[in-house]
Amino acid sequence: MQPSDRVQPSLSQLEAFRKRYMRRQLAALVAGAAWVFVLLGVVMTGRAATMLGETTILGTWLVVAGVVLSVWRCPRCGERFGSRLRVARCPHCYLALEHD
Ligand SMILES: [Zn+2]
Repeated sequence: MQPSDRVQPSLSQLEAFRKRYMRRQLAALVAGAAWVFVLLGVVMTGRAATMLGETTILGTWLVVAGVVLSVWRCPRCGERFGSRLRVARCPHCYLALEHD
């Protein structure tokens, strides 16, 4: 990456970065929603207090945490976004991720 690209990517690069950001955001949201779905399913079936229920909840949480940690990163610099669900601008490389 050239230093000038880091400051101001071209429009096509910016659109590609934004598309990758939106796909990563969707993957993180789907993973979180899947965990909530599994959690509700285990609780509603009355298996939350069983070994199988606890293992399912913990195992699913670990998978979802792994997915979120791997995808919730800047598409340009690769740094993690942290716990924020929407990131208008990467706090590390200042890439504008959402339209103004
Ligand atoms: Zn970045």
